[in-house]
Amino acid sequence: MSENTTASKSSLLKFKKGERSISRDLAACLVFALAIIIGLVTAYEYIGRSKMLRQEYEDKADNYIEQLAKSVTFPIWNFDMGSLKHVCSAYTQNEQFAKLKIVDMNGEVLFNFVRPGDKDDNPIVRVRDLYISKEKIGSIRMELSSRIYRRNLDWILFVSSLTFLTSVAVIYIITGFLMDYFIRNPIARLRKGMDKVAMGDFSYRFDEFQYIELLEIGSRFNRMTEEIASRESRLEEVNKVLQGEILMREKAARSLVKSEKRYRALVETTAEGFFMIDESSILLDVNPAFCTMIGLTREEVLGGDIGAILGDTAAERFRNNEGHSHKFELSFVNSNGREVDIFINATNLFESDNVKLTFAFVTDVSGYKMMEKALRASEEEYRTIAEYTFDWEMWIGPTGAVKYVSPSCERISGYPKAYFMEGPVRVEHILHKNDREFWQKALRGTFPSADGTDMRLFRRDGLLRWVSLTGHQVFADDGTSLGLRISLRDITKRKFMEKQLQYEALHDPLTGLANRTLCCDRILQAVERSRRRDNYYFAVVFMDLDRFKIINDSLGHNIGDKLLVEVSKRLLQTIRELDTVSRFGGDEFIVVLEELASPREGIRIVRRIRDCLNDPIMIEGHKINIAASYGVLLSPTEYDKPEEIIQNANVAMHQAKESGRDRIKVFNKRMLEEAVQAMQLESDLRAAMLSGDELYLDYQPIYSLQSQSVVGFEALIRWEHPRRGLVMPGEFIPMAEESGLIFELGSWVVSEACRQMKSWQVNYDSASEMMMSINISPRQFSQPALVDNILSKLSEFDLPARNLKIEITETAIMERAKQSVDMLNRLKSAGVLVSIDDFGTGYSSMSNLQEFPLDQLKIDLSFVRKMNESTENLEIVRAIVNLAHNLGLNVVAEGVEEIEQQDALRDLGCEFGQGYLFSKPISRSKVEAFFKNEIKLS
Ligand code: C2E
Ligand code: MG
Ligand code: MG
Repeated sequence: MSENTTASKSSLLKFKKGERSISRDLAACLVFALAIIIGLVTAYEYIGRSKMLRQEYEDKADNYIEQLAKSVTFPIWNFDMGSLKHVCSAYTQNEQFAKLKIVDMNGEVLFNFVRPGDKDDNPIVRVRDLYISKEKIGSIRMELSSRIYRRNLDWILFVSSLTFLTSVAVIYIITGFLMDYFIRNPIARLRKGMDKVAMGDFSYRFDEFQYIELLEIGSRFNRMTEEIASRESRLEEVNKVLQGEILMREKAARSLVKSEKRYRALVETTAEGFFMIDESSILLDVNPAFCTMIGLTREEVLGGDIGAILGDTAAERFRNNEGHSHKFELSFVNSNGREVDIFINATNLFESDNVKLTFAFVTDVSGYKMMEKALRASEEEYRTIAEYTFDWEMWIGPTGAVKYVSPSCERISGYPKAYFMEGPVRVEHILHKNDREFWQKALRGTFPSADGTDMRLFRRDGLLRWVSLTGHQVFADDGTSLGLRISLRDITKRKFMEKQLQYEALHDPLTGLANRTLCCDRILQAVERSRRRDNYYFAVVFMDLDRFKIINDSLGHNIGDKLLVEVSKRLLQTIRELDTVSRFGGDEFIVVLEELASPREGIRIVRRIRDCLNDPIMIEGHKINIAASYGVLLSPTEYDKPEEIIQNANVAMHQAKESGRDRIKVFNKRMLEEAVQAMQLESDLRAAMLSGDELYLDYQPIYSLQSQSVVGFEALIRWEHPRRGLVMPGEFIPMAEESGLIFELGSWVVSEACRQMKSWQVNYDSASEMMMSINISPRQFSQPALVDNILSKLSEFDLPARNLKIEITETAIMERAKQSVDMLNRLKSAGVLVSIDDFGTGYSSMSNLQEFPLDQLKIDLSFVRKMNESTENLEIVRAIVNLAHNLGLNVVAEGVEEIEQQDALRDLGCEFGQGYLFSKPISRSKVEAFFKNEIKLS
């Protein structure tokens, strides 16, 4: 390679004959062209300069002749030859003057000068005639030598030639340098790169040229080298592959020899029989296994006909089969007399000369045949069992083909067995789209749950059925997959029951409404939603039917239940679908109103519920007016537990009840405070009852309207609270009722009133016939021991029963109608009088009253107050009085405050009156003062 480099280097420096160089030719052409140009310019310059010089000498000659003419005219005219000579001599001193000749008018030579030795071929000649007053006096002939002019001209020629030669030389040098710089050097670099490529270095790149032409050559060269490099690498790869292939072939050839040996060994040692026959069924080769099968030795059979061993049919089949391979089963009797079942797998091999050879592998299947028979019998048995299974059984083979479907499929799906035999996709098609995934997984051998995966399918008749999918992969003894066994059990009934149970767990059995659990869950969801979303409003309404207990007790539980069902229906009709109505047991309902546009909307819906419930309900011929109290909690986000929400809605509901029933109250913090206060009051009352000095009785006199005299007193409890001062019964009796304190409190009142009355009777004669009325609250009246308690107090203080009257509200009696009759009968038979308190405010129908053993009826003060406002009101009072009289009861009017009322009542036949007109409730001491006649009470 280094030889190449030196060769190419020297070829650049020296030129062989016939070789040309661009740079040399270009330089020669350039120098030649420039030499011509410079030569032309120099010649032009020289000609110009010589012409100028000639002109200069011509001008000088003209000048000399002029001056001479002027200088010699007068000496000639004056014939002053001396001056003439003198002047002319002065001129001839100038070496340019070669000849000077002056003649007169007669041609006489006056002066003649010829410079010796001066032979000039081309002198400058001037001739001039001399005149004075137009008279010719002579002439001058002058010749100036051209020698100096020629000498100057020669000098110019010399300088021009020198300039020309110097210029050509300089141009030659510069051109050479430029040629080197612009052409030879880049070419040398190109050559260097090419040398590298030639030496196999394809990494060389031209990228330093500043001239576009070379740059382009360089880039093309780069591309070329890249292409060469890639081709070379490809070539190398191909080469490697080829080499690898050659190696492989060599290896294959070697292994072919080896494998032939191995196969020969295999054929010789395999348990499977092997033989090879030619076209005429002549045995060419056999292995020992085949020999064993047929019971002959290799030597005995080789060269024999296969037909003689396996029978003519077999020979016929081998002869006639022209295809590549053929398999068949055969049974023959071997030389030992044993019947052998064989399976032949034969392959025809056509050699290059179209000679047919047949190779056959022979398997002794006598054992399998027997097993097959046994298996078939066993399969038949299993199939019979499977056919009668209740579940829908399927066997899907490893290829995905359905191998077996039990007849139960028709019972479960309505489709016949054949339908599912078409493929597992048939099952998939009737499955619910959300459950198809399970089926697809099962087909891949993955069963989501070992206990069964519940799926829905649509029967042929369109009905939905639930099935439980179980299954497993089935493997043969040798571990090969036999596919999948899938079982589908109809669980529709179970699902139905599950749903039923689930429903029952969350619903009220009587009304079908949501129960407490479901309601709490809905509330919790609503709270969470309202926390997540802005402007999400919801409301929880606690609704309690007013006086439901009375209906239940008076009309029976059956009607009570029907009423609750009807109320539920009405609630469901009134609310929207997204709302939840739940029953909390008894007559309590919770309504959860969701997605409200505003809290006000919640109130609007509650009003709608109230209006809907206010329509009378007809049940078994009974027209029932129903109302409820509603406690509403609006968007209560600050709660974590639904129970708290319900509790506060309950507080609001209680407020609604207290404020007069059929009311809607929206919960606020104050209510809660009041509830807390009520609790405080309860514990204070407990303490008061323990201490015994905070509670006392006041007594309000009852008057005979006829005689205007006091006939008795009504004992009214008072509580002197240590912090709050006087607390009226209206405030703490309901609380005592609710808390159960009323039993103890009531007992104390009975005791104190009896004790007091007895004491007055002992001390004051006028008290002996007076009545002591005590109030019995509804819950107190529900206490079975009440009658015993009263009777024991009477006997304890030895107070005659006729001096005691109990006041019970009609509601208290009606709530437990049956029990009431018994209790009242017992009191009555003991002699205690019974009065209906606050008559007119309850629900009792007047006709019901006759069932009870009563003595007196107290008209509620609300009727008395209004009786003089309109005749209708007056008529109501009249009706009450008449009713009472018809029932054999006397009448007490409560709350008589005005004389007019008293008069009107007397006119209506009302026997007794009680009210501020007569006296407010007064203390024990005042009553005593009255008995002592110290004060008057009216
Ligand atoms: P009541 O049995 O109807 O008692 C009559 C109530 O009317 C008394 O109120 C009495 O002060 C008031 N009153 C009487 N005349 C007039 C009148 O002219 N004008 C006005 N505005 N009011 C009049 P009081 O004492 O506040 O008792 C309220 C209720 O508390 C009683 O109503 C009764 O139901 C209950 N109560 C009072 N003491 C007891 C008691 O010892 N045991 C039970 N269980 N309840 C009691
Ligand atoms: Mg009373
Ligand atoms: Mg009353």
